[in-house]
Amino acid sequence: MQSLPQQLREFVSGWGGRVLQCNAEGCAGTRRAWQRISTGAGSVCVHGLRYCFPQCFERELRRRFDHTQLARGARRRPAHRMPLGLLMLSRGRLTDSQLRHALEEQKLHPGRRIGECMQRLGYVSEPQVIAALATQWCCPVLKALPQRIVECGVPMSFLKNFHMLPVHFSVVSRTLHLAFAGDVEYPALLAIEKVLDCKTEACLTTPSGLQAAFQRVDKQIACVEKEFEGARGAKEMTRITVSYVGRLGADDVRIAACGEIVWVKID
Ligand SMILES: [Zn+2]
Repeated sequence: MQSLPQQLREFVSGWGGRVLQCNAEGCAGTRRAWQRISTGAGSVCVHGLRYCFPQCFERELRRRFDHTQLARGARRRPAHRMPLGLLMLSRGRLTDSQLRHALEEQKLHPGRRIGECMQRLGYVSEPQVIAALATQWCCPVLKALPQRIVECGVPMSFLKNFHMLPVHFSVVSRTLHLAFAGDVEYPALLAIEKVLDCKTEACLTTPSGLQAAFQRVDKQIACVEKEFEGARGAKEMTRITVSYVGRLGADDVRIAACGEIVWVKID
């Protein structure tokens, strides 16, 4: 039979280990486990790692927000293996003079992509452009988007910003499939993998198909996300997040930055 102090010690170390184990370097909390239990202080995870709330949690959040600020703005268009016009030409979809004409059109409208120019001139169809883009990106083409999109927890504003929609989630391989209508935004896919802790696969679909799907989604999904506009520093983002976590009694926070967007998922 265990003595009462022994039982108490085991209870404290068991409970303290689960609730108070803190991943912060130089944390004083774990050494004062009994004191923290008596004051009712808890802990919250950041990307699955536990920290004392609020001090160590706040420090870890601030460190991660500082890091995301450094990583922001890195959104360059990758170089393709073969220009789209040349690819269409080699496939016999386009003649030499048609390609020259399309390139002249593009010079007159600098914001326009070459695929759109060829299409506007009536030389190629939308599915033909997407098929050529799919070759460039080494992605499959999705001919029709599902009527309902997968509700996977990626904020609508994030999806709209990168012109992509989740179309399927494979439970077995934990892979989220997302449809794009032009450029595949790999930094956005990496952000999704980081926050949702899953794999991602890209596929391509037509711009008109994607636009119609977005219109359906706007009617389908009730908004549970909060958006803060304007540039905010790491300090303010930390303060807002800590305040939400405290109010919601949340247990896990995940953060990813992509382009100008910082995505914070609070569970
Ligand atoms: Zn701590």
